[in-house]
Amino acid sequence: MTAQLMDGKAFAASVREKVAGHVSRLKEENGITPGLAVVLVGEDPASQVYVRSKGKQTVEVGMNSIEHRLDAETPEDKLLALIEELNNDPAVHGILVQLPLPKHLDEDLVINSISPQKDVDGFHISNVGLLGTGQKAMVPCTPLGCLMMLRDYHGSLSGMDAVVIGRSNIVGKPMAMLLLGDSCTVTVAHSRTKDLPDVVRRADIVVAAVGRPEMVPGDWIKDGATVVDVGINRIERDGKNVLVGDVDFASCAERAGAITPVPGGVGPMTIACLLANTVTACCRANGLAEPEGLTA
Ligand code: NDP
Repeated sequence: MTAQLMDGKAFAASVREKVAGHVSRLKEENGITPGLAVVLVGEDPASQVYVRSKGKQTVEVGMNSIEHRLDAETPEDKLLALIEELNNDPAVHGILVQLPLPKHLDEDLVINSISPQKDVDGFHISNVGLLGTGQKAMVPCTPLGCLMMLRDYHGSLSGMDAVVIGRSNIVGKPMAMLLLGDSCTVTVAHSRTKDLPDVVRRADIVVAAVGRPEMVPGDWIKDGATVVDVGINRIERDGKNVLVGDVDFASCAERAGAITPVPGGVGPMTIACLLANTVTACCRANGLAEPEGLTA
């Protein structure tokens, strides 16, 4: 391996430390404790793990964690009423509805019922619009984490050629907007892109958010490029259940200048950025200065 490893675990710890410092200042100087409410509907095992982990890390940085667990059969009006209650609760600065929701619930309707100022996932249509027009928004956590790591490694991203593989609303599109905001020349690739290897070979920065195990081989990577692997895929290898990303780590690390591993790359940054967004939302709600380096 020749690439430098971009250690998301260590970087996430430094983000959490910054968040904790800011939380303690908010408590001491302003008597405010930021609060994050997480709503889980149903018993999806992966969602339960995420929610537990979010709650634990929220408390560890000194914030209040409020959890609402609802039955899988919860009617939509009951969920909307809970969100309205949280929207109006001054002790709640961030609201996250864990996705995916059970099929009978309209995901767009539910997300757009969250107050945009408390939408710490950054999925509300107002935040999507604000990000798209270069205004102050709540930014989706995973792409925000990728951006922080890229800025930390490169300093300025201005003028770099970036290729984002994947155009989902939660990763690919907001990632492209953030890179554009940092003056990259951005190409967004997807399942219909012609000659993907050729497109990727032009990139100084490759962000892979596809959901296909090890799809990007090393010979697609330009020498010295930076590779950010968002993918989280579980596969069987040598009789073991292992986590791999969307890029073939071994061959990409031979060509790249820097690369994020899976696990331990982008993954840990997502929850760290959720905490960062919550403290940012709390500062904005109270008309206080926002923490430096925790927003886009
Ligand atoms: P989606 O399934 O919503 O989107 C996948 C995207 O990949 C689509 O735009 C799709 O194109 C594109 N795609 C699929 N196949 C190909 C192909 N052969 N060539 C080029 N593009 C292709 O996934 P998400 O964005 O939600 O997630 C992507 C990955 O990131 C997953 O592995 C997920 O687990 C992971 N993830 C990790 C997070 C973290 O915290 N680290 C957080 C969120 C996601 P099209 O639109 O044309 O169908």
